[in-house]
Parts: sequence; C-alpha cells; structure tokens
Amino acid sequence: MAHQWVAARVISGDSVIDGTVGNGHDTAFLAGLVGDSGLVFAFDVQSKALEVAKKRLSDSGCLEQTRLILDGHENLSAHVGTTAIKAVMFNLGYLPGSDKTQITKAETTIPALKGALESLSAGGIVTLVVYVGHLGGLEESESILRFCENLDSAKFRAMRYDPLNSRKAAPFLVGIERVAS
Ligand code: SAH
Repeated sequence: MAHQWVAARVISGDSVIDGTVGNGHDTAFLAGLVGDSGLVFAFDVQSKALEVAKKRLSDSGCLEQTRLILDGHENLSAHVGTTAIKAVMFNLGYLPGSDKTQITKAETTIPALKGALESLSAGGIVTLVVYVGHLGGLEESESILRFCENLDSAKFRAMRYDPLNSRKAAPFLVGIERVAS
C-alpha cells in the first residue's frame, strides 16, 4: 500500500528519500520510479545495509540515480538541502536477519520526520511502516501517532492504514501528505 501511495505521486525526474534502506527494496522501487533523471537520497546507519542495497540497485540498473548515505535519517536535511522532495519512505524497526538492537527510535525518527516534512513539496507524501511487536516498537509508534495528531491540518493530511484481521503485532502504515496549495 505504501508503494501505491508513492507511485500515485512520483514521476520520472523527481527527487525522493528512502529514510531506512534496510535490504534496499524500497530504495530500488523509488529509483525505478524517478528514473535516471531523478534522484534518491537513501539513508542507513549500517554499512552492510547499504552494501546489500548497492548490489540490488546495480543489478536493476538504477544505482546511478541513487545516493547511498551512511548517516542517520535525523540528519537528512543536511544532505538534502533545499531540494524539493516528492516522497519519503520509512520502514522502521530492525533489519531482518540482523542485530535486533539496531532499531529505529523515536528520538531520531521524530526529528527525521520533521526534516522530511520540511523538504516535502505540495502534493508529496511521507510513508512510514511502523512495527509494534519488538522491544521499543510500541514507544516509537506512540510517539509517531502523537506527532501526527498534532500536525497542522491546513498543511498536512495524516492517514493511518491498519490490518483488521492480522496477527496482533502486525505493522501499520502511516501516510502524511502535504496539502497542495
Ligand atoms: N522492520 C522492517 C525492516 C526495517 S529496516 C522489516 O521487517 O522489513 C530498518 C533499517 O533502519 C535498518 O537497516 C537500520 O539499520 C536502519 N536505521 C536504524 N536507525 C536509523 C537511523 N537513525 N537512520 C537511518 N537508518 C536507521
């Protein structure tokens, strides 16, 4: 569903952000959407995530339009500058098959979200896949929901998409759209 929301808005030549590269699936998806005239800023704090993503991007022929950045997404504004961003994707939690203590945390996720919203162009969207089943997940999800509920509704439309008949700890999706002015 996050891919559908993003694909409905992003066109060739756009600039976008992957806030959590992980295994690089969203990075490759975004790089395919923006094409070789676009740009993907892709962040992760684990170099092994960036290495896996690099191979995936290279195999699918879209490494050229991707900037793989070994830095926390809380610093994204320093890398993105004044570039107008059409979409930002976050897939939170920990890297599957890796160290489960290397999780995303509210203290950095919320600053990242603020930076993402500042860089977003009108009609653009931020998506977050939010996990609650792991240690620390619930706290992070509560902070994100509180942050979204307090967003100015004249500027942003915040949505939540939830499975109703899934296992208890299933992730949910948040989408924050900058209202077109
Ligand atoms: N939970 C998802 C995968 C999430 S991967 C799933 O099950 O499919 C999340 C990625 O975020 C990890 O690779 C981790 O290294 C990265 N990460 C953690 N803190 C970060 C930060 N501050 N900035 C950027 N990436 C971060």
